[in-house]
Formats: sequence, C-alpha cells, structure tokens
Amino acid sequence: MPNQGSFKTEAVVLRSIRLGEADRVLHLYTEERGRVGAVAKGVRRVKSRFGGRLEPLSRVKLVLHEGRSDLCTVTSADTVHAHAALRERLASIERATDACDAVLRLFDAAEPNRPAYNLLCHELALLDSDSGLATIAQALAFRMKLLLAAGFAPELAACATCGEREHLGAFSASAGGVVCPGCEAGSFPLTEEAHRFMTAALGKPLVEAPEAPEPALRQADRAIAETVEYHAHVRLRRLM
Ligand SMILES: [Zn+2]
Repeated sequence: MPNQGSFKTEAVVLRSIRLGEADRVLHLYTEERGRVGAVAKGVRRVKSRFGGRLEPLSRVKLVLHEGRSDLCTVTSADTVHAHAALRERLASIERATDACDAVLRLFDAAEPNRPAYNLLCHELALLDSDSGLATIAQALAFRMKLLLAAGFAPELAACATCGEREHLGAFSASAGGVVCPGCEAGSFPLTEEAHRFMTAALGKPLVEAPEAPEPALRQADRAIAETVEYHAHVRLRRLM
C-alpha cells in the first residue's frame, strides 16, 4: 500500500458511532482529504487520552494513521474550536447538527473541498458566537452556499431552460433553477420573496443571512431539497 502511514489534518467531527466496549467510529470532514472515517480507540473510557475532544460538532487538529483498513486510526487530537457555547443551547445544537448532517450527505468523497470545509467551520463558529443565528432562514442560507460549494447551485438569474429573464415565477429542480411560464413543466410556484431570498442567501455573507416570511422559506426549503435529490441523489432533512 503506497499510502500507508500517518498524516495531519484539520477536521470537523460530523458523527460518532459506538464501536465495541470503548471505541468510536468517527465520520470526519477533513480539510486535506474531504470525507474520512476513523476509529478513536479507548475514547469512551473515563481516562481516555482524547478527553472530550472528539465529540461531534468539534473542530480538531488530528494525526491520523492510515493502515490496511478503510478506517484510519486517530493517534492524536487537539481542539481548534470546541463550540462549547452552542452546546448549551438546544436550537443551536439542532442547527449545527443539521449543518453537519448536510455535509455528511452531500460530501461523501475522499477528496478535499476547501470552500465546503471553510463554510462548515464558519457556520459552526457563527452558531457558537450568536444564539440569534439559530434560525431556519440562516440554516437555509447555509444550505444554499453548501449547494454552491458542491457544484449544484441552482440558476436564479434567468430561466434555467430557455434563458428568459422576466416572469420567473416557478422552480424546477430537473431544469436546474427558476423557470419561465413557457418552461414550467415539472415545476412548482416560487414567489418573488422566495426567489429574492435564495439570490440574497447566495450573494451575502453567511452572517448577514437574509430573512423572509415563512411561506417563502418553505418554498426555498423545497427548492433546495429537490435540487439535492435530483442532482446529487441525496435526501436532506426538510427544515420546514
Ligand atoms: Zn423558459
């Protein structure tokens, strides 16, 4: 095996599953290699050398050993950001877990995607710093940007089918974005407010995530979920 040995990387712990008596399997999103699975041995013992550093939602610096198995082994872990404040608030935990779950589903390849990694780290840091950001609108804005990082951002400036720039009142995941009345087969109605929300979510920084009335957010939620389902063959939990 040419790639046996140890490597260093930063990572976010997306999910942690019990393994045997004292170990855990970690689903990691790493800066250097994208998705990596790793075993943390003895992590569930009271006196584990990893302490609580490998909990889900944590951003850590790791040394991973790559052997013959599909799973790496964690040999060292240092905290970059524990996100301790967000863990005290149920709504923030829920949003952060959603963010990790979306990355888990959308980015399953062992290849790096720096924009996606940076976006996830940024989202977790924001949720940690401000309890007021744990909203559905902010979560949808994160998903829009995640779609962009994954290469699935919908067309929002013109009809995805014919290029028409006026009367874009519907959304079609199969067409790849907003559509005009002439191309609306297989689409659902998208209000101007929902359209504006999606455009602003892509264009504005994450911390300035736009707001919109509930029906508009519901449409954006649907547009994102159907886009991911159609183009990435992945199901995201609906936020509304
Ligand atoms: Zn059209």
